[in-house]
Amino acid sequence: MMRPARSTAGAQNVAPLISRRGAELRYSSYDVLVVGGGIAGLTAAVGAAHRWNVGLVTKGTLDQTTTFLAQGGIAAALSPHDSPELHLKDTLEAGVGLCEEEAVRVLVEEGPARIRELEQLGTKFDRQGGKLILGREGAHSMARVVHAGGDATGSVVASALAQVLTSGGRVELHENEFVLDLLMDSGRCVGAVSLGEEGELTVSLARAVVLACGGAGQVFAHTTNPLVATGDGHAMAYRAGAVMRDMEFMQFHPTAFYGTENPTLLLTEALRGEGAFLRDDAGERFMMRSHPRAELAPRDVVVRHMRRVFDRDKTDHVWLDARHLESRFLRERFPTVHVGLQKRGFDLCTQLIPVAPASHYFIGGALTDTWGRTTIPGLFACGETASAGIHGANRLASNSLLEGLVFGERTVRELDRYLAVADPAVRKVRLDLADERREGNDAAAVAESRRTVGQVMMHMCGIVRTREDMEKTRTTLEALQASLAAPGLSVAELELFNLLTVARHIVATASVREESRGVHLRSDFPERDDARWRRHSLAQRDAATGELVVESSTVVESSAGEG
Ligand SMILES: Cc1cc2nc3c(=O)[nH]c(=O)nc-3n(C[C@H](O)[C@H](O)[C@H](O)COP(=O)(O)OP(=O)(O)OC[C@H]3O[C@@H](n4cnc5c(N)ncnc54)[C@H](O)[C@@H]3O)c2cc1C
Repeated sequence: MMRPARSTAGAQNVAPLISRRGAELRYSSYDVLVVGGGIAGLTAAVGAAHRWNVGLVTKGTLDQTTTFLAQGGIAAALSPHDSPELHLKDTLEAGVGLCEEEAVRVLVEEGPARIRELEQLGTKFDRQGGKLILGREGAHSMARVVHAGGDATGSVVASALAQVLTSGGRVELHENEFVLDLLMDSGRCVGAVSLGEEGELTVSLARAVVLACGGAGQVFAHTTNPLVATGDGHAMAYRAGAVMRDMEFMQFHPTAFYGTENPTLLLTEALRGEGAFLRDDAGERFMMRSHPRAELAPRDVVVRHMRRVFDRDKTDHVWLDARHLESRFLRERFPTVHVGLQKRGFDLCTQLIPVAPASHYFIGGALTDTWGRTTIPGLFACGETASAGIHGANRLASNSLLEGLVFGERTVRELDRYLAVADPAVRKVRLDLADERREGNDAAAVAESRRTVGQVMMHMCGIVRTREDMEKTRTTLEALQASLAAPGLSVAELELFNLLTVARHIVATASVREESRGVHLRSDFPERDDARWRRHSLAQRDAATGELVVESSTVVESSAGEG
């Protein structure tokens, strides 16, 4: 690995995160422990349970996931006019030169088979005259997005997978169980420790752990992500020593409902795919002059042009206009959005809807190969927690549900190989739990600190970044962390510490990348700089010092995206 850039960003206050604090200790043991019950975790657990004794832990219930909220659909080359090659080309272009072509090839070639399997499992995708209806979304050269229940794709798919999981009786499911940290033994991941609803701690020993904890949109104040998306999987993988990749890349969705709610309502890109426009205050369709695909330009491009309008018009939102589309069609095709807007006092069919960018998809994650293997033996990752390299610097719309399906299934195949030869489960493990009774932090201070992280990240290290702002952000985050006592056994506190960890990684890696590329926009380095920066950033905890070390990988050779 070439190491042209290296910076340290201060020691992380990470270990030991857990105070036993007199809590009851329970034990369980599995071949495979899956952490997370979204599309990636469900796919991995259902598949692995054919051969292995599997436990699945989720911090909420199975319907409290990002997957459940997904609206637009799943992209795959299913039309006779389409091909994996075209899907590959669109994905590489959207990724602005940072995609790993081998991983994208796996995604687009295996995607169609995974969609058909989902149908066999009982998912009812929307059809007309027996044929799948394929939707169009930004930066796709053709209509290739299957959807279900109109704009309720995520809940339909997740419910079908959850039904298989719970009816099969082969997976031990623990909902409302918060995983605090991974268990390590001689450099290998051997399980995890979790906190139950009654305050009890469970030590789950496992021969392999699959992290499928979703994203970290909650790091930013304006987000489409549910409250559970606090980057726990990212923070845990980092604490365990995994290499994290491309943590500076958070995708902001251009059309989230403008307001102060957390989370805010997404207005799916499929609306623009069906012909909705973006207008500025003067009513002008500003994307017409900005990109050949107008409103269907890649997301990063649309967000950049929205920013220009904000600066020019001294505003912080623009308008989504679907008034020219047929009302009945809008109500039937977009029931979630239509009802969601009604609850907020807006009518999609007759009114302009105020929209602003919101954090939506975290491209950064635990570095994996195309089989879900992280850099730690025994630790696998898939879905939004992982960085398999398929999104580059900007994710193509509707590729992430596909990512969960494809790489969740490949993780299962790899588990079969790994478990056939891996060491048996450890019988003993040294627990690095603090012994002292911790008072932790006052609930109001924790809530206030979470708000501060969100605000500072949104305004100082969000859509537009500068060295000066990021330096201030780093100082604010460090001061905040220093003001907090070590966390007690409360989910809110532990989430706050994980949010802080991820926020600091975003700031550290974004500061190092001195260029603008995809979703990473620096006003002090406005140009894309392939000579220096056609590279991934890699972040890792230095085992000896506990410091965060940021480096950059070798140049990405194979990805042809020209953005
Ligand atoms: C509003 C919205 C709409 C979207 N629409 C689309 C779309 O149409 N198409 C598309 O491709 N993508 C879409 N996306 C993105 C996509 O939904 C996500 O990237 C994807 O669902 C992530 O799946 P996942 O399995 O990785 O994680 P998730 O679905 O987020 O699941 C994460 C799981 O991990 C668990 N977990 C987290 N931390 C812990 C912990 N500490 N202990 C125990 N469990 C934990 C959670 O409880 C949850 O069960 C959308 C995203 C949003 C927010």
